[in-house]
Amino acid sequence: MLIREFDGREKSDLKKNLKRLWKLGAEEYNTQYFDINKGGELVVKEGHYQYNIINLVKKYGTPTEVFFPYILENRVRDMIDLFNAYIKISGYKGRFYYHYVMKVNQNKEFVLPAIAEGAHIEVSSANELYLVKRMIEQDKFNRRIRVTCNGPKTEQYIQLIEELRSKGLIVIPIIENHEELERLKKFKGEVGVRVNLDIKIQAHWDKKFNHFGFSEDELLRIGKIRNLSILHYHISTQIEKIDGFVKPLKRAINLYAKLKEKNPGLDTIDFGGGVGVPYEKKRKLYSLKNLVNQMIKAAKKESDKLGIKHPNLISEWGSYVAAPAQISIFKVQAEKPITGKADTKWYFIDGSFITNLTDTWSVRRQKWEIIPANHMGAGRMQKVWLAGSTCDSDDRYTNSGSYLMLPKFTEDVTELYLVVMDTGAYQDALGNHHCLLSSPAKVICQNGEVKLARRRETADEIGKQFGW
Ligand SMILES: *Cc1c(COP(=O)(O)O)cnc(C)c1O
Repeated sequence: MLIREFDGREKSDLKKNLKRLWKLGAEEYNTQYFDINKGGELVVKEGHYQYNIINLVKKYGTPTEVFFPYILENRVRDMIDLFNAYIKISGYKGRFYYHYVMKVNQNKEFVLPAIAEGAHIEVSSANELYLVKRMIEQDKFNRRIRVTCNGPKTEQYIQLIEELRSKGLIVIPIIENHEELERLKKFKGEVGVRVNLDIKIQAHWDKKFNHFGFSEDELLRIGKIRNLSILHYHISTQIEKIDGFVKPLKRAINLYAKLKEKNPGLDTIDFGGGVGVPYEKKRKLYSLKNLVNQMIKAAKKESDKLGIKHPNLISEWGSYVAAPAQISIFKVQAEKPITGKADTKWYFIDGSFITNLTDTWSVRRQKWEIIPANHMGAGRMQKVWLAGSTCDSDDRYTNSGSYLMLPKFTEDVTELYLVVMDTGAYQDALGNHHCLLSSPAKVICQNGEVKLARRRETADEIGKQFGW
C-alpha cells in the first residue's frame, strides 16, 4: 500500500514515523544515506541523487548485492581525518596509518576506492598478497603504500613477500611464531610481531585460549628481533565498549616500551580491528569520534608516563568501513503458516542465509537488520520468520527466536522485496555453493550511475566448478 496521501504536516509526520520505524536516516545506525520515497519504497541517497532499490530489482532481478563505493570512501576518509584531527588537537607526535583489511572484502570494487582514499593494506594470506602483486603490475598504486602481512607464513607466502620487497614495495611480515622468526631472520625489510595480549575485554570473541601471536613473556624473552618496527595485536571483532580499545592499547604501550629497549627501530603499534557495527538497529554503539579521542589521549598519557616517544599508530578497522557500504536484496517467493506457531508465518526468500549470508549460521552468528524495499508504509504487518532456499534446516532467520515484523501479503501487497543491511563485510568470501545456489549479482551505484559488476552465476558456471 502506498503512503496515504495526507496533506501538509500530517504527511511529513507519517514519513518521519516510517523512517523511525525502519531506523532510516540515523547516523548512529549507519543509515544516514537511506530514505523512503512517496511510494513507500527504499531509496539510497548520494548527495542530492537517489537510487531507488525497486528500480534496481526490476533491472537486475534478485538476489542482488548493491555496493555503494561512496559510503566506503566516506568512512575511510572520515576515519583518517578523525585520527589526524585528534593527533593534532592533543599534540600527539606519532603518525596514523589506516590499513584496509583485505580479508573483509577482497572485491576489486572495494579495495581500489579504499586505497584511493589513502588506505594502506593488510593481507592475511599469500593469495591476498597476490592481488597486491597484480595491482603493482598494473601500476595501480604508488610504491609508498605499506602492506602488512598477517596469517600463517607458508613458503609460498614468504617468497611472495620477498619478491615484492625486492621490487621496492614496503611489505612487512607480521611474525607469529618461532618458525616464522627463524625463517625471516635474514629478511631485509622491516618486520612486525604479533602479541597475544594478556587481557580480556567484552566483545564478540572472548575465547579463553588464543592461538595467534606470541605471549607477552615470550616476546620479552626473545628480546632482540632484527628490523623490528611494528608491535601488532588484534583482540577481537565487534568490541562492545571503548574501554575494550583503551585498555589493550595501554597494555601494548607498556610492552612496546620494554621491547624498544632492545629494538630501537620499533616505532609503531598496530592495534588491529574490532570496531563494532550496529548490525541490529536496536541500540547505539559508541561514536567513532569519542573512540578515537579516547584512544589518542590514552596513547599520549601512557607514553608520556613511560617517557617514550609517541608511537605511530596503525588501525585495521575492517567491518567498520566495509559492512555499511553494501546491502543484499531478496524477493519473498512464498509464505506458509508455521505449524505450532499460529501468529507467525514463514516467508521464503530467493536466496540463502547459508550460501549468501553465511555468517548468520557460521563464523560470527551474525544478526541482521532486515527491512522491506517496497510497501514500507503498509497498513498491515505480519510477524515473520524467514526461510532460505537451500534444503538445510539451519537456513532460516528467526531474529534469535523472536520474529521480524514485515508487511503482510494482502490485495495491495502482492510482491515484496527485502533488504538485508550492512552485508559488505566478510559475506562474499564466506559464501558457498550449498545446493548449488548461484552467487548473487553485484551492482555498483556511484556518481548517479548504476553498473553491473558481476552477473548472477549461471548453472553452467557453477557446474564447471564441480567438474561438469
Ligand atoms: C579480521 C582482522 C581484522 C578486521 O577485524 P574487524 O573486526 O572486521 O575490524 C583486523 N586485523 C586482523 C589481524 C584481522 O585478522
